[in-house]
Amino acid sequence: MLRYIESKPASAEIFRMVIQKMADWGCAFTPVHYTVVYEYVAGINPPLIESVNELLKKSPILSGEDLEKVFVKFIVPDYVLPLNDYRGTLAKQLQTILQNLSSTTTQTAQEAERVRNGMESYSHSLKEESLDEKTFRTLVDAVLKDTLSIRESSSTLNSELVKNQKKIDLLQDELRIARAEAMVDPLTGILNRRGFLGKVNDLLLDGKVVGKPCALLMIDIDHFKKINDSYGHIIGDKAIVAVSKVLRGSVSEGVVVGRVGGEEFAVFSPQTNAEEGVALGERLRQNIMKIEIMNPSTRQKISTMTVSVGVHSTKLGREWEEMFERSDKALYASKSSGRNRVTLWTPQTPDIKEPSRKSSSNEV
Ligand code: GH3
Ligand code: MG
Ligand code: MG
Repeated sequence: MLRYIESKPASAEIFRMVIQKMADWGCAFTPVHYTVVYEYVAGINPPLIESVNELLKKSPILSGEDLEKVFVKFIVPDYVLPLNDYRGTLAKQLQTILQNLSSTTTQTAQEAERVRNGMESYSHSLKEESLDEKTFRTLVDAVLKDTLSIRESSSTLNSELVKNQKKIDLLQDELRIARAEAMVDPLTGILNRRGFLGKVNDLLLDGKVVGKPCALLMIDIDHFKKINDSYGHIIGDKAIVAVSKVLRGSVSEGVVVGRVGGEEFAVFSPQTNAEEGVALGERLRQNIMKIEIMNPSTRQKISTMTVSVGVHSTKLGREWEEMFERSDKALYASKSSGRNRVTLWTPQTPDIKEPSRKSSSNEV
């Protein structure tokens, strides 16, 4: 998810506004606070903006604890990222940027103060009319010298700003990479549960899929434990990767595919009615049956796999939790009626009786 795409002048402007807002809201200058305020000011994270606005209604000053919560909830999931390392690195970089800026700004301000004093004594001497030519020259020389050093200082400040801009760009790159990594499942390279939910949420926020029928398919490998138990976890992992590849390769662009549990996948297909959703499920089920699990040493086929699929299609509003629950119920119905099949959710589909399947500890 590319979130930081502002042009250089725009991002410099945002940087100024961020610093201003951080001061207004009494934030400490930490990278976490900077990032939250950055996303707020840049207007790129609507749920974050809403949450910060809520906090501001309660108090004009934002506490570190509140900002931290907003960061974890809306920016980076702390259960995925080694947040402490990440924070540490960003903290150092941000500190250097701010220190450099403040020292050059102070220097320029001091030079300006000296010129002001020089001009004051010059004006004072003129008033007293005690100005001989020598004193006049000395004064003018001093003022000229100070003006020159202001010019030098402000050009240092300028190059400091350019340098800092580069560092800020780097910080933003790091954030972008960290965010993208937090969304992807390292084993298969497809979206993880968080990435999948985020992507579908983005589609809903865009409004493009709202009000149109969309299908959600939940797909779970049948008797996967047996594959692990018979051939070991490495082959089990390969089977999971193979399924993810087949899923990705079987859907058209615009369809979101994610690994939402250990051996459980989800497919969100916009503009797809119930009939098309079932047809898609059937195609995926049959393509997965074609996967051949090989013995890596002998290169011989040792097994195949089947999946059970649950489908639900509905016109979406901005809420879609119910859609998840219903396709999950349909998946359970596929499992309980013999596996290796596609079931469409209907109001008659029974509720899930076995909570252990849903709350599987294999979230990725
Ligand atoms: P069912 O047909 O009811 O779905 O049976 P199942 O054996 O597939 O279901 P269950 O959920 O009981 O088992 C899933 C297994 O998947 C348990 C877990 O050890 C395994 N698993 C989860 N994640 C991974 C993974 O990343 N790699 C491997 N190799 N196995 C995994
Ligand atoms: Mg399974
Ligand atoms: Mg499962």
